[in-house]
Amino acid sequence: MRSTTRTFLLWLKIRRYRRASEQGFSRLAETRLVERSLREQEAELRSLMEGALVFGRDITERKRMEELLAAHEREFRSLAENLPDIIVRFDCEGRRTYVNGAHERFTGRPPETFLGKTVLEISAFSMEQHTYHEQIRQAIETGRDSDVEWKARGSDGIQRTFHTRLRLERDANGKVLGLLAVARDMTEVYEYRSKIHQLAYFDTLTGLANRAQFNERILQELQQAGQEGSRVGVLMMDLDRFKTINDTFGHVTGDQLLCEVARRLEASVRATDTVARLGGDEFIIVAPHVRNAAELRGLADRILSTVAAPMQLEGRALVVQASIGIAVYPDHGDATEQLVRYADGALYHAKETGRNNVQFYTRDITDNATERLRLEADLRRGIARGELDVHYQPLIDLATGCIVGAEALLRWLHPELGWIPPSDFIGIAEETGLIVPIAEQVMRKACSVVCRWNSWQEGQRHIAVNLSPSQFHLSHLPTVVQRVLHDTGCRPEWLELEITEGLLLVNHATTLDTLNALNQMGVRIAIDDFGTGYSALGYLTRFPFATLKIDRSFTQSATGCPKNRVLVEAIVAMAHGVGLTVVAEGVETRELADWLAGIGCDMGQGYLWSSAVPADTLLEMETHAGGSLASCHDVVPVQSYLARKSR
Ligand code: C2E
Ligand code: CA
Ligand code: CA
Repeated sequence: MRSTTRTFLLWLKIRRYRRASEQGFSRLAETRLVERSLREQEAELRSLMEGALVFGRDITERKRMEELLAAHEREFRSLAENLPDIIVRFDCEGRRTYVNGAHERFTGRPPETFLGKTVLEISAFSMEQHTYHEQIRQAIETGRDSDVEWKARGSDGIQRTFHTRLRLERDANGKVLGLLAVARDMTEVYEYRSKIHQLAYFDTLTGLANRAQFNERILQELQQAGQEGSRVGVLMMDLDRFKTINDTFGHVTGDQLLCEVARRLEASVRATDTVARLGGDEFIIVAPHVRNAAELRGLADRILSTVAAPMQLEGRALVVQASIGIAVYPDHGDATEQLVRYADGALYHAKETGRNNVQFYTRDITDNATERLRLEADLRRGIARGELDVHYQPLIDLATGCIVGAEALLRWLHPELGWIPPSDFIGIAEETGLIVPIAEQVMRKACSVVCRWNSWQEGQRHIAVNLSPSQFHLSHLPTVVQRVLHDTGCRPEWLELEITEGLLLVNHATTLDTLNALNQMGVRIAIDDFGTGYSALGYLTRFPFATLKIDRSFTQSATGCPKNRVLVEAIVAMAHGVGLTVVAEGVETRELADWLAGIGCDMGQGYLWSSAVPADTLLEMETHAGGSLASCHDVVPVQSYLARKSR
């Protein structure tokens, strides 16, 4: 080939590809390949240009040049035709002068249908053609390139989203010749993007807003409220005993429950409120434009009653209750972090006051929260330093007056605060998981004590140990018990484990399995605090209980009120009916003890005989009493430091 021709053709090729690249093909692999060879050829071109001056022109040469031009035209066309992007060229009147293969593939119609026609005359896709026509017209009129986005339905009926570059084509003098529209299908990219957005801003389990979205929303709401002078409520909610439910029924049910709660929450709030899940069973609601506290309380009450309605999960009817703590902008604070902390403090207070409860933030709550944190730190330190001890409260056989056993009760001798009752720290121990090591220690000490007790004085006394629900689920209880019995040499029948109804509320196969396993080991199970909870009698036969302990408040209520006396009598009769031993707790008077003995109650426990005492005192007490009926009754109540305090 003559150099002139090659020069010209190369120049032409470079120009075309450059244009094509400007028009939007630059990101395509094909284009990149072409560009690479282009650079190489450009260098070649430069040397040829110099040579071209030397050679003359002739007709044959021009012809060959035209042929080659046509060949390159085909080459270029093939590239444009096979691109996945839709390409349409418009003239200055907005009429199509070219449509590529992707256009034909998408519309399912041949180019002839569209050529020479405007978008208004014939629409290629089922889309808003007026808007598109207007965008084309404007670009040509203003001489400005633009990028537009449109959704269109192709011949397959599937809607797709296109990002379209509208690029003007000009002649050498810059005069607009027409417009090139390059439309790229962005459907998948957008779907992907929306998935990422979903992951970043929504809770994957419940589909509620997540913490990130909550943070953004509350910031917006607080800013707006600041400008308008309105109030924003922050409601922190969590489910009562969710952990127990989750541990007992398993995570699948736990997850379903959270989803159902999320659904109910969304149904109870106003359209302007944001419900978010912060994690676990912790939900938070941002309620803007609140007029007063009553309105927020109304919202909170509505939420609580909606959540508490029975739900069916995997064929089981479950009832969950929740508690809510509320902080209000600007009354309680003006920063997100502060409001959330205050709402959380109020929630904690709500739980303490009794579950299924709503509490507003008050100054006292922060004081309490600070105190709690201090107590938690102290408790960790206390455990490490061995400040926790176990005391024992004797159990008296009401018929004989003899001490037949004792209940192990945890005591904490705080270096500054003195004796701290378990009610003040068991809750923290449970929440922090510290209960697990504590509980094993208690059981270990109690078992050693009962061994000493029974070998010291020939006998079959038993020791009762309290179990907390979380401990029940966290550790594999039968294994722990087995280990403790083995290590201490305690016989299983000397150990009684006290559980409360709270554990049974979420009655489940694993609870029953664990209790059965313990029962089969020969360990006795007692139901504690009977009369304070639901006292569903069905539990008594369904679970392998040996003992029923009537709660202190219930026993004591029998003293003054004949109706309650009838109730206590009924409980004793019924428990005996199903073969349980009955213990009355909180017996403080001789009169009550005599009455209980009269109705056939088996055992008593209370300050009448003794409060909880150190192990050595317990062993001495028995020695002094000598095991006889008379001397047992003569046991002088031992006034321990703690009993004096708690009275
Ligand atoms: P509880 O199991 O119902 O224990 C009986 C509580 O009543 C004890 O309080 C005891 O000192 C008190 N009490 C006994 N007799 C009388 C009486 O005649 N009058 C009055 N007014 N009170 C009496 P304490 O020791 O403060 O224990 C409170 C609760 O702490 C216990 O209630 C039990 O639920 C829990 N607890 C104690 N030790 C442990 C433990 O080692 N593990 C677990 N998980 N919980 C424990
Ligand atoms: Ca108990
Ligand atoms: Ca009790």
